[in-house]
Amino acid sequence: MHREVTTTVRVKLHSLTERKAQLVEREYSAFQDAVHGDDDANLYSATNQQTGKVRSNKNPREDTKQPVVLRNDCITIEHEEDTVLSSWWFKLPVYNPEREQGDSIWVPVRVPEKDTHLLEDEYISDSELVHQDGEWYVHLVCKRSVAVADEYDDVLAVDMGAKWIAVSTFLSDRDTEFHGAEVRRVREHYKQLRKSIGKAKVRQGAQVIERLGDKESRTVEHELHQVANELVARARERNAVIVFGDMAGLRFDNDEGRYVNDKIHKMPYAKMANILTYKSHLDGRECLPVNEYDTSMTCWRCGSQNTSREVQGRVECCDCGLDDNADKNGASNIGKRAVGKNIQSPLSTVGAVVTQPGTQVVLKGTNGEMEPANSPEDVGLTLSEGSPRV
Ligand SMILES: [Zn+2]
Repeated sequence: MHREVTTTVRVKLHSLTERKAQLVEREYSAFQDAVHGDDDANLYSATNQQTGKVRSNKNPREDTKQPVVLRNDCITIEHEEDTVLSSWWFKLPVYNPEREQGDSIWVPVRVPEKDTHLLEDEYISDSELVHQDGEWYVHLVCKRSVAVADEYDDVLAVDMGAKWIAVSTFLSDRDTEFHGAEVRRVREHYKQLRKSIGKAKVRQGAQVIERLGDKESRTVEHELHQVANELVARARERNAVIVFGDMAGLRFDNDEGRYVNDKIHKMPYAKMANILTYKSHLDGRECLPVNEYDTSMTCWRCGSQNTSREVQGRVECCDCGLDDNADKNGASNIGKRAVGKNIQSPLSTVGAVVTQPGTQVVLKGTNGEMEPANSPEDVGLTLSEGSPRV
């Protein structure tokens, strides 16, 4: 089956002639006027149509700059090996005040080497002209379809953002890894810094805190990418499909006696889910969310919810006597839930089977069409004993 993945490629405008630089500048500035309410700003007509959307979607503050939205049918990027000035050129739609109408200019751009393959024959959708540190960039949004396998040998279940950024466990033998505690450390470090700065001079402090915020989010984002890379590499080793706990809805915490969404405060959960899904799909691997409701308080071994979390980081089952690492238990439940409740298969008995050669996980349906699931938690995985692949 196929999945669509989206990558943003940042290309830099360079060597602009004075005339082209003025036209870019003028278009950008007219766009700012328009999104802040000036109905008479002269813009390329397709670009002008976008201003209303920006206004209603973002309701931008007066003192902010908004990237110019470039409609995909008005832009083109081309590779010209023979030109002296640049090997990549971008066709940018602008309003031409001399001719008093829309026009297009070809501007030289630099494309990061690692991204050049993305621009060859991918579908480019609506993109943005951005002004940053005195330079012009276009953020090209490239969409492409990638093939993901529908047969796997194992399930890698991922529980995100409890104590660690992610805890991953294989369904077949419960081999578990803990990934990237850094986010919490980064968060705490900056929290302390902000506190100490806040006590100093207020105005200067505000500026420093803003800069800290940028640095913090870059550090965190880098860490999320690292963890996602680790998870995908781990899944690849065993040819496993990735499933992760989806926090749709809040969990009821018996210990606390209230509904909690503490995970969301600890780390950018949605961002992590997006990065992981993206990297997994690029690796030709399916990556599916599983409702993680109740997975932390359920015993992975016997399914009982008569459990206790009295000891920090442990879960104890009052019915079967399990005493296990709480995160490992949660991840195991996510893996089990992905497979579905009523499937008789070696893998569905988590941890019981280590030596079942050729056991395969098969995704239901073809062409990305999932069959209706039996239960809301079932994400459409079936297990079968296949013959070993040649
Ligand atoms: Zn139990």
